[in-house]
Amino acid sequence: MSKENIFVVEDEKNIQKLIKYNLESNGFRVSTFDNGEDLLEKCKEMTPDLFLLDIMLPGIDGLEVCRKLKENSKTNLIPIIMLTAKGEEFDKVLGLELGADDYITKPFSVIELTARIKAVLRRASRDNCTRQDTIQHDGIVIDDSRREVYKDDRIIEVTLKEYELLKMLMLNKGHVLTRETLLEKIWGYDYFGETRTVDVHIRYLRQKIEEDPNHPIYIETVRGVGYRFNDKVSTS
Ligand code: CA
Repeated sequence: MSKENIFVVEDEKNIQKLIKYNLESNGFRVSTFDNGEDLLEKCKEMTPDLFLLDIMLPGIDGLEVCRKLKENSKTNLIPIIMLTAKGEEFDKVLGLELGADDYITKPFSVIELTARIKAVLRRASRDNCTRQDTIQHDGIVIDDSRREVYKDDRIIEVTLKEYELLKMLMLNKGHVLTRETLLEKIWGYDYFGETRTVDVHIRYLRQKIEEDPNHPIYIETVRGVGYRFNDKVSTS
């Protein structure tokens, strides 16, 4: 079995070495970069199985790197974990809005880091095994073999998490899914995030698929409970 490859961007040399040493001893291949520009350059040649991005970097910051990776069709489905310093609450949320899969707050334990990486990779591969063909409802089509979303035959660019959310809601259309359920199913029960993460991703998804995101007709909010994909949508 080939080892999973991880690209790490971290400008602090001692943290970079610590991460590399620990991940390699857990069986991963690791390439380290001192800045985001070098990482993006490398991605033109080859792509990894996962990105670990520090936020505070010389040159472009980790959030910008995340944005660029998610905009590029070569890298947009590769999971991303952000490294944030304590107190960067805003950056965490922003990172998730940009499509990062998880974040880890410094100082972190290498055990926690390894566990998070394994969990994210496991979810990514599990998701690859459970693909269906197409799921559709009133103008919204998910082509699960290509992992693409269409609205009225127009392709909609979505992040990996937005994709999983939409798929989960559409597979359960007409049924309310609680924030906790969505968080558990999509981010994993071992994810240490908050239900606000779900709201943030729903908001972004609505901006992409709803005519009027403030008055959504596809993804309904069920106050105090969660979200439901409306099975009675009629757009005609
Ligand atoms: Ca840094």
